[in-house]
Amino acid sequence: MAKKATTLVALAILIAGCGAPEPLTFDGEAAYAHVVAQCDLGFRPTGSQAGQATGDYVIAYLEDQGWTVETEGFTYRDTPVRNVVGQVGEGPVVVLGAHYDTRRSADQEDPSVPVMGANDGASGVAVLLELARTLDRDRLQNQVWLAFFDAEDNGQLDGWEWCVGSSHMAANLEVTPEAVVVVDMIGDADQQLYLERNSDAALQTRLWEIAATLGYTGTFIPEYRWAMLDDHVPFAQRGIPAVDVIDFDYPYWHTTQDTPDKVSAESLERVGRVLEVWLEGKGDLAVDVERLRALAVSGDVETLARALDRSVVPIPAGEFLMGDDAGPANEHPQRLVYLDAFEIDRYEVTNVQYHRFLQATGQEPPPYWSGDDYPPGQADVPVVGVTWEDADAYCAWTGWRLPTEAEWERACRSTDGRVYPWGDTWDAGRANVGGAEAGQSRPVSHTEPGAPAWGEGWALVQPTPADVDAVGLRPVGFYPDGASPDGVMDLVGNASEWVADWFNWDGYWDMPDRNPVGLGPEWNRSIRGSSWVPYGVAHWAQEQSRCSARNSAHRGGPDARFGFRCARPVR
Ligand SMILES: [Zn+2]
Repeated sequence: MAKKATTLVALAILIAGCGAPEPLTFDGEAAYAHVVAQCDLGFRPTGSQAGQATGDYVIAYLEDQGWTVETEGFTYRDTPVRNVVGQVGEGPVVVLGAHYDTRRSADQEDPSVPVMGANDGASGVAVLLELARTLDRDRLQNQVWLAFFDAEDNGQLDGWEWCVGSSHMAANLEVTPEAVVVVDMIGDADQQLYLERNSDAALQTRLWEIAATLGYTGTFIPEYRWAMLDDHVPFAQRGIPAVDVIDFDYPYWHTTQDTPDKVSAESLERVGRVLEVWLEGKGDLAVDVERLRALAVSGDVETLARALDRSVVPIPAGEFLMGDDAGPANEHPQRLVYLDAFEIDRYEVTNVQYHRFLQATGQEPPPYWSGDDYPPGQADVPVVGVTWEDADAYCAWTGWRLPTEAEWERACRSTDGRVYPWGDTWDAGRANVGGAEAGQSRPVSHTEPGAPAWGEGWALVQPTPADVDAVGLRPVGFYPDGASPDGVMDLVGNASEWVADWFNWDGYWDMPDRNPVGLGPEWNRSIRGSSWVPYGVAHWAQEQSRCSARNSAHRGGPDARFGFRCARPVR
């Protein structure tokens, strides 16, 4: 029954996502399909026809995803053995490994029958194959090897040893990897991943910390439990930091019951996401921004859009201080609010991303575009002039949604109640806020907050000013020192941002303290973050740049100040 529900959800996503860009991050359902495909080949012990076919399946998929594939063939006890290694990127080598053979005897139950190995074999392979599709190569700081080991799982059968394939690879390495992470039996629907005693403690701690950031504290349990003889050991014995991610509390281990119904897409996704964040997150934020700028300048808009799509920040579950007693009444009172874990776009949604959405859906472009084209040179500039409905539709098209007011504020001020993303003191050099310099009071036609038509804004949207002090929209990430503690950019300044909530005029104090969202009155939508358009007086610009500051506008009207970013819950 549970499995059937999952299939329906997957179908719904496929329909909703029709024409949308490929999922940005590791997709558990896609990984699960690799589990099923392997099991459809039959029992897959080393040297068998199905074992050969599994290796071929891996090779074909890696090549299809643009990975360089090498194989290592040798003979062990008159049996042909073949390791498969996919390689991509440059830099120190990091190996992600999994065994693809299955045990030829279910000796924990009935030794005359082989093991199907949906979890013990197929699950690790599935995670590696989905990573082959989703790893953002531009963000990798390493050469990544995806190593598919043969002959791991016939230990103690007719005198066979464990880990034959990985031992052969470790003994024949021509370069010394910086790290090896093995994933084995990680797909159990009842997932419990404990620290393992033969693993490198520092690297293991790092991975479990990332898991906690993603909200996986219930399954990545930071306590020691087992000591495993697995494919990491031959590398660890050579002094290479190696970790075994394994769930050995699996009741179907080496039985006939190790079948796909015991594996869940969610379990695969948690492990895949941790590895993805680990490998992609090694990059430095300033370097990331520079790379985006270079892509925009070079005109490689496809790569730019993809890189922006993947620029997401995980925010762990927990409490934070929301509101400000010193602010206007609509921010009162400051209080502790609990949020489930979520992910949010690092940058505001840009013209290049929004352009792709318009192409796919035929929606109306913002009023300042010429036809279907955004202003020249503004691929990596936030799209503005979008209505709440436009923003909502874009996020839904990507499979995400607008952040709630609470999520936005948490992304902006972290958990220490700070006033601005960078701390408690205003600094006009950290954000693109119009007229925020002390003493600057550029005259504008509307000085009232919430004025419906900022006529002057439209003309100013067009050119991106070369002069740092001039008024105008700027590329996302233009002020790296304005990042929030979690690395979310441009929350203050550049575009103001639509969020999911209806604006709650009063009764803000009365909202739930867990995952609050404004449900009405259904009149104005909430807006967070200050804007690039001059506020008229510096004091007002600073007021509006506080993380807790709230605004609203009627949802239907395009406005040169308003853009958005997307978010989604972490499951
Ligand atoms: Zn096994």
